[in-house]
Amino acid sequence: MSELLKAKNNQDIVSIAPGAGVRELIAMLAEHNIGALIVSGDGVALEGIVSERDVVRHLHHDGTVINNTVSAIMTTSVETCGPDDDVDDVMATMTERRFRHVPVCEDGRVVGIVSIGDLVKQKIGQLTFERDQLDGYIHQS
Ligand code: AMP
Repeated sequence: MSELLKAKNNQDIVSIAPGAGVRELIAMLAEHNIGALIVSGDGVALEGIVSERDVVRHLHHDGTVINNTVSAIMTTSVETCGPDDDVDDVMATMTERRFRHVPVCEDGRVVGIVSIGDLVKQKIGQLTFERDQLDGYIHQS
């Protein structure tokens, strides 16, 4: 996981305060072209996660949620991983629990966030490398 985070660069952590408005959340998701934000008052302590799926689900039930705050639609019970966790394990958790984002935490601080797209990219790179190694081994003269 740490290799992937290095490649992504920690600047990629975008957070929003729980008291911010849902309109602001939508603007940030659109501007940063991302699917989920860490919810944190200070930008490091994890209070929740909120994704575009939360916006869609809540808006479908109650259109007035657009005037509410992020705290009304976020998920507070967040599954996290550590920088040394295995990419395959995190992918398995995402598949089983049906979410596409996992914050990476260390010593109670958010140090990154990975999406299913990041993990798939990393996995394809790893498998391509292994395939090329085997190919070279088989075809060596
Ligand atoms: P996603 O697939 O990431 O857009 O999220 C789908 C749903 O799962 C939304 O309700 C999110 O708030 C929630 N969610 C996303 N990531 C996590 C996570 N790491 N732990 C717990 N819930 C999450």
